[in-house]
Amino acid sequence: MGQAKIYYDSDADLGVLSNKKIVFLGFGNQGSAQAQNLRDSGISNDQILIANRVDSYAETAKSKGFHVEHDFSTAAEVADVLFILIPDQVQPRVFNEQFSPKLKSDATIVVASGYNVFFNLLKFQPGQDVVMVAPRMIGSSVRSLHEKGRGFPCFVSVEQNGTGKGLDAALALSRAIGATKQGAIASSVREETVMDLFAEQALWPNIIMMFREAFNVLKDAGCSDEALCYEMWMSKEPAEIFERAADDGFVAQLKHHSTVSQYGQLSGSLKLEGGAMREHFKDILYNQILSGKFCEAFSQIEDDLDKEGDTNPLNELYKRSEEMELVKAEKRVRARLAGLL
Ligand code: NDP
Repeated sequence: MGQAKIYYDSDADLGVLSNKKIVFLGFGNQGSAQAQNLRDSGISNDQILIANRVDSYAETAKSKGFHVEHDFSTAAEVADVLFILIPDQVQPRVFNEQFSPKLKSDATIVVASGYNVFFNLLKFQPGQDVVMVAPRMIGSSVRSLHEKGRGFPCFVSVEQNGTGKGLDAALALSRAIGATKQGAIASSVREETVMDLFAEQALWPNIIMMFREAFNVLKDAGCSDEALCYEMWMSKEPAEIFERAADDGFVAQLKHHSTVSQYGQLSGSLKLEGGAMREHFKDILYNQILSGKFCEAFSQIEDDLDKEGDTNPLNELYKRSEEMELVKAEKRVRARLAGLL
């Protein structure tokens, strides 16, 4: 595959944002971080408007000196740029019903994740620009790294170039929120969505399953709950391994392990051909993610995710997970550590 283009501050002209009204829909994790970074980059406070229902998020925005609009139609009418920074599952309803009908025909719409654009769940007008500026960091880090004068990894793309100047807007907005300082990677909603959903639906389920089965096998072999929980995750060893993988290299970090460990890990992994896993991964990628099957099924349960108790499908999954021996054992270990047993 080719190399992705990386955009830096010098590729972006903040001038294209002069006199533009920039509306942030949502002042949560990303909204509060990005709006503050943007203001620190020299965009006037009067150009920025936070659209939020009357509640604590709106109060926080006001306490930080931002102008806040509770009426979404009014916010939509004035927006030259609209950052959609509310949870992904509520975006289609809120955007399509309350923003889309009132937005200017040449507005720039910014998403921080590809999902709703990739699956065509948001209604745009043909003259509008639709861009993705997707930080690869939680909101608090987007803010704290910017405050320290550092950047953060970010994906950027133009998905609809209604004005013909979508890239200029995307880069200026990326720079304004601090995303081009370290380099913003050219990507697409397809790439971002596929990688996210693949990690969530293929990679991590298998990792969870492998931990579950490893736990069961070792427990049957006589290992104690305490020893297993600490050996497998509570010591934070896996976190350290991944930190070293990020710093030193995915395989090179093995050099920090004992010789027995290095030999065991390398010989063991190279012996596993992985063909069956590759087919399983492809099945999830093509038949569950790219086919739209997951998106369709998720849309059907979305409303139930706000419910309390067992009728919420997520609560039901948590309840079933509690049947895992690993989870039961961990509960016992934590209770004993807290002196409750
Ligand atoms: P949050 O959960 O922090 O969003 C909270 C904001 O959304 C609040 O302002 C809240 O206001 C508003 N909101 C919630 N429900 C509604 C609703 N039904 N109608 C109107 N406003 C609503 O979102 P994130 O910042 O986590 O995510 C925003 C976007 O950023 C998503 O696309 C996400 O994928 C992306 N992203 C998130 C990352 C993260 O760090 N979490 C990392 C990278 C990208 P109120 O409830 O007061 O109405």
